Order: sequence, then structure tokens, then C-alpha cells
Amino acid sequence: MATLNSLKLALRQKAEVTTGNGKKSPLSEAQYSAGFDILARGSSATYRDFIIPHLFHVLAPLFNSRLRISVLEIGPGPKSILGELPLSQRRKISRYTALEPNGLYATRLEEWLQCSTQVGSEGLEELSNSPLPCLENQPGVHRSLFVLDSLQPGVEGGKKYDVILFCHSMYGMKPKRKFIENALEMLADEKRPGGMVVIFHRDSAALRHLDGMVCYQTALFPACSVRVANEDTVLDCFAPFVAGFNFSPSQGREVKLEWWRNVCRTLGRLDENGGHYLLFNAPQRMVTFTRQSATMLLELTAQLMLPLPAEAEIRVKNREARLNRQAAHIIRPTEVEHVQQCVRWALKYNLSLTVLGGGHSGHCLMPNVVSLDMSAFAQVRILVTGGAEAEVDSPLIIAGAGCKTGDIVSKALASGLEVPLGSRPSVGAGLWLQGGIGHLVRLHGLACDSIVGVVMVSVASGKLLYVGNVPSQHRPADAVRPDSEKEEIDLLWAIKGAGTNFGIVISVVFRAYKAQSYWVRNWVVPLPNDFEATRRLCGISEIATQLPQSRTADMYLFWKDGKLRLGVTMFESSTATPFETPTPIPTALLAFLGLEHSGRCVDGVGLFETDMYMTGMMHDGHGGGKTSSFKRCLFLKHVGADVVEILVKAMHARPSPLCYFHLLQGGKAVDDAVAREAGAFGCRNWDFACVITGVWPRDDQGDNEAAQAAAKWVYDVVSDLLPLSCGVYGADLGPDSRDAALAAMAFGPTTGNRLRLARLKRNWDPCSVLVYACPLLKVPKEPKLILLVTGESGAGKDYCAAIWASVFVSNGLVTRAVSISDALKREYAAAMAGVDLNRLLQDRAYKEQHRLALTAFFQAQVQGRPRLPEEQFLSLVYDAAADDVDVLFITGMRDVAPVATFYHLVPDSRLLEVCVKASQETRRGRRRNAADDDKDYKDKGSFKVSADMDYCPDLIFDNDKDNDDDGMAVRRFAETSLLPFVHSDLECLADMVRPVPDFPRPGILFRHVLDIAQHPGGLALCTSLLQKHFPSDWAQVSVLVCCEAGGFVFASALGIAVSIPLALIRKVAGASKGKIPPATISVVKGPSHISGCSSSLKEHPDVERIEMDMDVVPKGVLSVVVIDDVLATGETLCAILRLLVGEAGISAENVTVMVVAEFPIHRGRELLRRLGFGKVSVQSLLVFGGA
Ligand SMILES: Cc1cc2nc3c(=O)[nH]c(=O)nc-3n(C[C@H](O)[C@H](O)[C@H](O)COP(=O)(O)OP(=O)(O)OC[C@H]3O[C@@H](n4cnc5c(N)ncnc54)[C@H](O)[C@@H]3O)c2cc1C
Repeated sequence: MATLNSLKLALRQKAEVTTGNGKKSPLSEAQYSAGFDILARGSSATYRDFIIPHLFHVLAPLFNSRLRISVLEIGPGPKSILGELPLSQRRKISRYTALEPNGLYATRLEEWLQCSTQVGSEGLEELSNSPLPCLENQPGVHRSLFVLDSLQPGVEGGKKYDVILFCHSMYGMKPKRKFIENALEMLADEKRPGGMVVIFHRDSAALRHLDGMVCYQTALFPACSVRVANEDTVLDCFAPFVAGFNFSPSQGREVKLEWWRNVCRTLGRLDENGGHYLLFNAPQRMVTFTRQSATMLLELTAQLMLPLPAEAEIRVKNREARLNRQAAHIIRPTEVEHVQQCVRWALKYNLSLTVLGGGHSGHCLMPNVVSLDMSAFAQVRILVTGGAEAEVDSPLIIAGAGCKTGDIVSKALASGLEVPLGSRPSVGAGLWLQGGIGHLVRLHGLACDSIVGVVMVSVASGKLLYVGNVPSQHRPADAVRPDSEKEEIDLLWAIKGAGTNFGIVISVVFRAYKAQSYWVRNWVVPLPNDFEATRRLCGISEIATQLPQSRTADMYLFWKDGKLRLGVTMFESSTATPFETPTPIPTALLAFLGLEHSGRCVDGVGLFETDMYMTGMMHDGHGGGKTSSFKRCLFLKHVGADVVEILVKAMHARPSPLCYFHLLQGGKAVDDAVAREAGAFGCRNWDFACVITGVWPRDDQGDNEAAQAAAKWVYDVVSDLLPLSCGVYGADLGPDSRDAALAAMAFGPTTGNRLRLARLKRNWDPCSVLVYACPLLKVPKEPKLILLVTGESGAGKDYCAAIWASVFVSNGLVTRAVSISDALKREYAAAMAGVDLNRLLQDRAYKEQHRLALTAFFQAQVQGRPRLPEEQFLSLVYDAAADDVDVLFITGMRDVAPVATFYHLVPDSRLLEVCVKASQETRRGRRRNAADDDKDYKDKGSFKVSADMDYCPDLIFDNDKDNDDDGMAVRRFAETSLLPFVHSDLECLADMVRPVPDFPRPGILFRHVLDIAQHPGGLALCTSLLQKHFPSDWAQVSVLVCCEAGGFVFASALGIAVSIPLALIRKVAGASKGKIPPATISVVKGPSHISGCSSSLKEHPDVERIEMDMDVVPKGVLSVVVIDDVLATGETLCAILRLLVGEAGISAENVTVMVVAEFPIHRGRELLRRLGFGKVSVQSLLVFGGA
């Protein structure tokens, strides 16, 4: 499929040939718009899959950190792409200016924006319909070009913007660097995260080579295509638009347009659904810059003072990376300190880095991104004894991150050792960090399985770390272990399989094995038809799986001399050197293969030359000439007829002669149980790794159609094979959206593995320094709402949970109701002979019979695994998160005060306990229906509601009535008491809380809750929400208690709304006198989370007091409501409660606390309960995760 760039060139050439110079006419506005509309319509997938999601993600940190955003958009066309952003982002845009030189578009853009200004000051529900609903002034649409001047024509002089967006409109702007610099000058300020210039443009060398500019982020969408109706009228609009001019009407225009149509039809690929459309490839690039983009690189190079590596010294095998070679900023650190400086620099400017190891992947170099070429760290050291303090009872190899497979294998061999690495000598660290599959896998496992220690620079901090077993003489002097043992275990686990994502590895310590020699035998047989192909591949794979560990049979499917052929290489290892006698080939195998073509003995280094594609039997090292290749690798448990059918069909459809399949045999040591636990490499249960390789003649040009065709072929085969595969090799998967489905299968079948990686990525690379590595799952959003449905046996918990879940489902939310005891029941059934799991799960009477035994079993389990309740709870939450569940109901909890106990584990969700109550009689009746032998039943070991319970569930539902109203009461409860927790008004309120990174000290993401009051309409919204979320009757409330300063703000507004007086609590610092005249009551207060961070208070942390007028809350009042801005550690709240309960004599049951924002991570509720305030009802409007 031709690219739009080649179409443009071809159209221009045709025009040149046919008309010469001087007979072209520029496009009119109408012609331009007609062509552009066709392009935009034909690129809908590009907008959907690339532009809109990337725009959202790249802007998110900026939008999250500001209350208002100003945008200048260059050439938006008839409507702005900003209209596609979610409402939460659009609502932040308070100023919008556009430069749109096309008058027709400018008018349409103004019309499109109109609706926003009409409803701009109205209620929030109406606002959500308008594209930019919160503009504070009329949007400015200027009919002019973006010019190289700080003053843009028509735009108010000197105006600065937070975002400057070029979304398909840098055409004609040359040189691009100057225009980008000009835009950077117009960015508002340098506050972090700073404003940014965002560009979406067809990928071109001009956009990549920006002469020293460093980008904040870049992404390529290579598979993007434009779909154009294959009709004369459409092509007559499209071709002039692509060429950039039209023919003059007088010059036989009709005929010339006909020529252009033919050019389009010759170069475009007909779509597969009837050929109604022509397809053109149009790779899109996103690139974003921040204010310092033009100078950041200078700062780094001045610090490092390293010579720039000469072009010829940069060894990059991968074609995509080679194309980026000149556009990337390559630094070659020679000392660890240089690597640390680069990381600190990246962290300072919030930038990403790439790492160049052996250069075989497409993302070791990115345009306008700094890459660290690790080739200077190329030492291989051998410790034959494992070292004095070695925890590993085997020889060790310490390999620098710049080593290639060949370096390590030959050095090891010289010491009589071997280590399982890949099959090509030029491959680098990316291989062993991401898995490492080679001919030794059945003997020793994957390369990453042999890693026992690592030295690395943390991209979270720039610290130099050593992890696992690194002999002391190979630890750099200033290297330290991670802060805790758990961190270290997690990090080593993650590095073994996903190691390109967590830090910049300096060196790796491998466990080594005694070197063996190998007998290698080859066969090549023609496959005359599909039947033969199926018979042989299936038969051989079957026999291969029976081979002992010392023998491996790889298969190749390739085309040679006009025939499809099957190649088989069998490796046999022996510790005897030289190899004595190879074992005879099983006769069943000989029946498929006949006599072997060749057989020879090699050592570990010699193995490199035995790969069939390197030999004359196959492609002689890719045809003997210079080629490039593109690979993806899937794991197959079984090579059956269905697999063979796909492979053979794909061989027939191969786009170039040298494409081939390699089925590398696994099993045995690959599936080692210890290794499985020890590393993140998740796909082990496979018999063959199917490497799909597209090959084409080497080139170094961007628009190579052979390269695109080969990559497309590989992805097509992958998508056909994926349903039959049991996993995907993560190596080389990158940001290309075609890799997304593969990356989702890359780390094993269990979501637990992927989620663990996602969480570790968040902790170890919080600023996404290594954003271009193999994509890991993003930490999935935990359910918005988790409801723990508790209550005594027979109260109807499961019944209620099911009805409540259905109410959420009918409101469009993904909802799940699960029982936490199901996992326990499974374990119990497995451990106890004769227990029927299905009955235990479904038959209530049967479950009652086992209740006591189950409880005893649970208690015994907890003795051995004290964190079992947490683990079970989290596993339900993670499963729900992986399935994008919004609302999760959990029944079967056994824990007292589960919200106080578990909230800190799910700080991003709202966790509520809903207690279902029913009288003893009702419950007994319900249980009797379920179990006849109820008489001796004792509610031992399970949840129990009682008057002396020392805490207060968030909500109580009285389910005493018989369920003869068809669940209406239960349903009503969900509508009135549960649904409000997912109302969009709460999201609106949350959007008004600005996150401020590193305040008041580094590492704290401060949420500016008081910003709500500074936001137009914020206080009114907050007040109405506090009013609605109060679980009791405002008429019964005598006083609103509030503490300065946040509490004053919110309580004052609420006090007016509900006509209730305030009781004001003042804070008194140090030993000073007090702020309220006597008589007062007061208590000492411990430091709160934020005040504890401030240095002045740290000096006197324990002397702060709070005080209030003595009689402002009269004894014996019915109900008191405490209003505060934040609940974090709970120190302030506890002090207030001590004042009210201890000093003013109010009963804890009569106090309700309402806070605007809660930070569960600080376990405030747990403190409250510990200090005896568990019975105080606590409600919060917003919940925020993080510190
Ligand atoms: C011709 C060819 C043969 C191959 N043969 C095999 C094989 O036999 N077995 C096999 O398992 N795979 C094989 N592969 C796949 C190979 O493992 C991947 O391409 C791997 O990513 C290559 O690593 P590299 O260091 O050579 O490449 P690079 O592109 O330099 O690096 C790959 C990734 O690793 C990251 N990285 C590199 N060094 C570091 C470091 N020090 N710290 C952190 N991250 C780092 C890079 O940033 C990049 O994301 C082959 C690939 C090709 C093209």
C-alpha cells in the first residue's frame, strides 16, 4: 500500500510531466475544504485509535494540575479536536483561541463553538452538552496563519497559553523547528508540569530532525491508513488536495484529472470489502514539547561533557531504530554516574529516555528523545566459584549491559561454562531482561531465569541499586539495596522477564552451568501439499514433546526454489567433550524426515552458526545479502492441524520470498516451577515458540512499502494465530497500537502477574522515564465503589446484594456481586475428602451443615497466613479491576469494622459497609427454610450485629420484612442511599480539587481541597452534596462543629443552607494563650499529615491545641455534625471528638462526621476506632488515593 507521501510525489510528477511549470492553480478555500473533509472522513480510525487517546493522555497531567487551561489551536479546521476530550478535561478549558486561515472553516468553527457560549453560565447538566462548556470569554477565531512572530496577526498581543495544539496543520511551515520554538515562546509559564506544544502530523523526516530539540513525548502510529471512496468525483477532490494544487480550468483539466485518478488507483490498495475504497498508508506521529525543549539537551551535554558517539560507532540492527538514529540524541555514558545524571535530568524535566543495548528492537532509539547507548559497559567477568558470600551454589557470570550474547557466550566457554542466551550473537541486554529464548531453554530455562542479581539505576530516584546476589567486588561503591526486603524481592522478580521497564540496568549476574557440547542434525523436506504439511508438522511436534531434556527439535517453514519446505534441526547436548556418540533418531521421526542432511558437533559458540536460516539449506543468512526483518513471537502449546493451516496459508501469502516461521522447542526447564514463581516472565507452558519473521531487502528509507508489507504480514499471521496460542513473547512489543493486544497476553495467563507488574511500574517508574519499553498494563482503576454487604446469617445479604447490583447495572455501571468466602470454600473442598464444592457454593442447606467446620478451617488457615483476609479481599478487587468493574459488592466478610481494616488497601476506591439487619425471628425463619436442623445453630465465627458493637457501619438496611414486595424496598434503598455515591456531581467536585505535586515536600501529591471554594460554583455544589449525603435528618441536628481553617469554609456555607448554627474550634499553636475568650474547653492535638510536614511545626510537634467556647455545644443535644475539609491520619478529627465527647460530654452515637475529602491511605478511620470513636458515623464526599 503506497503512502500518502508517495501518492503526493507521484501526482506532482505526473503534473510536471503533463503540464510543466506554470499551469497549476492554488487550491481555493472550497477545494481545500472538500479535500480535507475526504481526508478527515477517511482517517476516522486514526482519530479514534491514535489522536484522541494520545491527546487525552498527554494533556492529563497538565489538566489535572490546573483549574483553568488556555488553548491556542493552529488550523483546527471546521471543529476542534478538543471537542472529543472527556468532559472533565473540556470543562477546564477557560480560554480558547484558534488561527484558522480557511474562511469557510473559521465560520464553521465559530458555529460549532457557539453552543458553548450560549449555555456557559448555566447548570452543570446542561454544560455537559457543549464542546467547551466553561469558556470565560468569547472564543477567538482568527482567520490567519501562524507566523514566525511572537505577535500573531489578530491575536491579542503577548497572550500566553497553557497548550498550543497543531493537529494536522504544520504543512508549509519550514523549518519546523523555528515554528515550534515560536510556539514555545507563547507558552504560559514554567510551573511544573509546564505548558506544552502538541503536534499531530504525518510522520516525516522534517518533523523528526529538529536539531537538538528534546520532546516531552512522541508516538508513532505506523498502521494508519486513509480510506478514500473509489469514485471519480471523490478522487477529483482528493488528488488536488494531496498534490497541493489544481489544474487551471482552461488547460484540459478534465483529462489531467483523469490521469490523477489513474495515479490514485494504481497506488492505492483496494479494500477487501468489494473494492469500493482505495487505501493509502499515512503513518501519523505525535510529538509534544515543553518550554525548555530547545535548551534541555544543552544543559545535559554540558553537565556530562562526553564526546558524541560517531555515527559509525552506533550499532543498531533494527530498521525502525536505524531510521531514528540521526533524530535521537545518543549519549554514551562511560561511568555509572553519567547514567545517574541522565536519569536525574529526565526526572527534573519530566522526560523519558530510551536505552540502546544490542539495538535489535524498534524502540531503543526515538526521534527527539535522549538515548543512553550502554556499549561502554561491555565487560564480562567470571566467578568460577560463585564468590565467598555467594548465596548461589554455582559459578557466576557478571555481564555489563553493553555486552552482546556472543561476548558472554564466548567468555563463558573459555572458562568451561555456559549460560542460556538467545541464538544470535549480536543481540544485547534487551534479550535477557525480557526472557531470552534459545537452544538451551529445555536444559537451563530462559535467559532471565539465570539472573540472580542486578546492578541498576533507579528511574524513580536516580539512585544506584543492587538487587539480589551481586558479589561485593562487583557492586559499585555507592550502590545500595532497595529500602526493604519486599521491594528487593519484587524488583528482582520484575526484572526477570519485564526488565526493560524498571530501571537502567548496568550489569547482570547470571548463574552459569558447565559447558556442554552439541550434536546438531538437519533435515529439509519439501511439502508438496497441505496434507503433507499437516501430517509432518503435527507428527514431528508430537514426537518432539516426548524427547528427553537433552534433545530439542526445532522446525522451520520456508520457501525455497519454488517449493514450500519444512526444515528440522535437532540439538542434542552432552557433558562429554568432544561429543561421543549421538543418540539414534527415533524411528518414528525418521519416518517423517528420512535421512539427515548433515550432522556435526559444535560447542556453545558454534551453535550460533547452526540456525537453519544461517545455512545454505535455508536462506543462507537471509539470502546472503543485506536484509531487514520484523518479528513477533507467540507461544504454542500444541502444533495441530489448525495451526499448520494458518502457517501454510500465510506462507503462500508472504509479501517477500524470505519470510519464514521458526518453531523453537520449549518445555522441560522452561516450565520449571521455581523459575515460574521467581520471575515475571509469565508464559511457560508452551511446547513451541513460533517466531514469525517478515524479511525484505535492507533499506534506510522511511516510506518503504516492502517493510510495511512485511510488518503487516507478521501482524496478520499473529492475529490469526493468537486465538490458538497460549501467550506472547513481550520482547520488542512497543507503543505501536498493533502491539496492544499482544502486550495484554505477554505476561502470562493470570491477571495477578500483570497487575503486580503494573503496580511495580507505578512505584519504580512513576514519571514514566522508560515509557518506550514493552508496554505493561496500566494499573487498572479499582472499582469506583466497593460495597461490603455485612449482616448476620439469614439477614438476606446475598439477596440484597444481587438486587442492589441490578440497580447499578440498570444505571449503566459495570457491576459485580461476589462472595469473599467462595475462595475459602474452594480451598476447604479441596482439603476435605467428600466435600462437594458445587453444593457448598450453591446449596444453602449444605453450606449451613459445613459452617462450623468452614470457620475452623478458616481460622487454621489464618494462623499460617495472617494476611489471608487481606489477600482474599484484594484478589476480589484486582479481579474486578481487571474486568473494568465500576461497582463491586462483596458478601461473606468475616471481619469486624472491615472499612477501617481494609480501606488503606484500596485508597482509590470508595469503600462502604452496608449492614443488612433483620430480627432474630426473621433470620431464624429464613434459615429454617434453608436448613431444617437449625436448632443447634450457633452464629460462631461469623459476622454478628449487636448493640455493643464498637463501631458503626456506614449504612444500615433494615431487611426485616418478608421479601414479598418483589424486592421493592431493597431496590429503593439502592436508589436513595447507594446510587448517590456514583453521581456525576461528585466527579465534578473532585475535578475542582487541584493536585499539586511535591507539596509541602517532595513525594507528596497535595490535593488542594480548599480550591473547591475558589472555583466558580464550587462551594454551592459542595454544600448541596453535603446536604444530600447526610444520612439522617437535618431537623434533628442542633449544631455544626467545625475546626479552622477548612472546616470553617465548608461549615459556614452549609450552616446557611440548613439553618443550623456553628460551633467554631480554633487551633492554638505552641504554648500561646488561646484565641477564644474564656470560658473554653480545649485538648491537645497531634500533628496532622500535612501540618506534620511543615518544618516549623516539626520543632514543636506535640503542643498544638484546639479549643472552643465551653457551652457552644450544650450537653444532651440530640445530634451534632462535625464538618471538616479532610480526613487523613485522623489526628484532627480525634482531637475534635475528644473535645466533644470527652470535654463537652456528647455521646459518640450522637456525633456524625462529614468531611469533604478522605485519604484512606493514612488509615484515619482505624485511628478513630482505636481511640474509642468507632461508633461515630463518618461520611466523606470525595476519596483520594496517594499520599
Ligand atoms: C535478528 C534477531 C534475532 C533474535 N534472536 C532472539 C533469540 O534468539 N532469542 C530471543 O529471546 N530473542 C531474540 N530476538 C529478540 C530480542 O531478544 C529482542 O529484539 C531484544 O529486545 C533485543 O535486545 P537488544 O538489547 O539487542 O535490543 P535493544 O533494542 O537495544 O533493546 C531492547 C529493549 O531493551 C531495553 N534495554 C536495553 N538495554 C537496557 C538496559 N541496560 N537497561 C534497561 N533496558 C534496556 C531497550 O531500551 C529496549 O526497550 C531476536 C531479535 C532479532 C532482531
